[in-house]
Amino acid sequence: VLDHFEQRCRTSKALAQRTAEVIPGGVQHNLAFNYPFPLAATRCEGPYIWDADGNRYIDFLQAGGPTLLGSNYQPVREKVHALLDACGPVTGLFHEYEMKLAELIRQHMPNIEMFRMLGSGTEAVMGAIRLARAYTGRKWVIKVGGAYHGWSDQVVYGMRVPGTGRREAIGIPRGSTAYTQEVFPNDIGALRRKLWLNRARGGTAAIIVEPLGPESGTRPVLRDYNAQLRALCDEFGALLIFDEVVTGFRVGMGGAQGYFGVRPDLTVFGKCLTGGYLMAGGIGGGRDVMMLLAGGIGTGSRRAFVGGTLSANPLSCVAGYHAIGEMARTGAAVAAGRAGDRLCRGLNGIIDRLGLPYVAYNFGSIVHLQTSAVLLMSMRNPIKLMREHAARKHAMEEMGAAYLAHGILTLAGSRIYTSMADTDAVIDDALSRFEDVFRL
Ligand code: PMP
Repeated sequence: VLDHFEQRCRTSKALAQRTAEVIPGGVQHNLAFNYPFPLAATRCEGPYIWDADGNRYIDFLQAGGPTLLGSNYQPVREKVHALLDACGPVTGLFHEYEMKLAELIRQHMPNIEMFRMLGSGTEAVMGAIRLARAYTGRKWVIKVGGAYHGWSDQVVYGMRVPGTGRREAIGIPRGSTAYTQEVFPNDIGALRRKLWLNRARGGTAAIIVEPLGPESGTRPVLRDYNAQLRALCDEFGALLIFDEVVTGFRVGMGGAQGYFGVRPDLTVFGKCLTGGYLMAGGIGGGRDVMMLLAGGIGTGSRRAFVGGTLSANPLSCVAGYHAIGEMARTGAAVAAGRAGDRLCRGLNGIIDRLGLPYVAYNFGSIVHLQTSAVLLMSMRNPIKLMREHAARKHAMEEMGAAYLAHGILTLAGSRIYTSMADTDAVIDDALSRFEDVFRL
């Protein structure tokens, strides 16, 4: 299969060899998207993406999640073009769209009174942690093992996950993560114990979670987990940070906080926030916490320093304002969620029929395809789960390459994002391609 694929993708392969000379690993972004070699994209539209050899793929990678409206969505593209024509991508001054975007977010997530635009999810996580520490005057931060919150030192993926060899921790001095603690998903008892212990040594500033569970719900959390976190944070005076980089607007206009009916103190955004237009990251929260970013203006002289040269460029803000507006107008999350449900049902149908050791599970438009039901059952044994996950990762990447060869682009073979552009016909086409791969 791969030989044939390499033949069909000759231009991409040649570019990949050349690129690898000047770009580490041959790509500027996440290496996970590029097995067996990076495909060079030339065109995107709706549910499809085309590579440099003219091959068309059903795009379930969606650039890692931002394009809920479908790729290269025309109504947003036109607004971006109009803004570029008027003032270019950045001004250094305030632009009206910064305000309009913040107002629109507040409209959909009433919990968020104020909003700060940044460049990426990683930056937004860093900012939210700083804000939590500044607000509480405490240093400890608790995250859930296996959760991804970007690549900053203190929360980097795999930090203390048993069985993974701490691969991503190279280059991070022990001290950088000294005040970050990890608990296993769904283990409220362990979390409570950590909060108790921290109380005696200065207290916990924040608990940060992906509200669907680590890695966008690859390891799902129990239905009332988030509500329990809220109660624990209230009891121990810690802030609750929801990392809604993936879920923000993808699981609904109210985000995961709307779905679970749980109010975090701070919310971190990325991805769908701008529909994929650079740059995409932001922090939202209550006025009392957020005003710490304002410094002297209205709060005395205390200021948590967060910001950057290209933060809140009007390009991202106009894209965000219109992307979120279009998501609300079209019901994008519902449409994409239906596509995800259809795909997931179909995949499990094929898996059952062929008796394969896989399982598909989803939360709307976020679909996971994993190697076996053991993964779900071993929720009770997180160490086993994480070892299994690490061991199977390459196998899933190889499956991803086989899907690619059959015209389907996924995220490393184990994650599928559906969009509003995924009609029943697109999903059914995808299912027959998946079946072709499973029958190999
Ligand atoms: N948090 C979560 C839950 C994410 O999935 C990601 C990116 N995949 C990030 C944070 C980091 O966002 P970015 O890649 O924009 O830095």
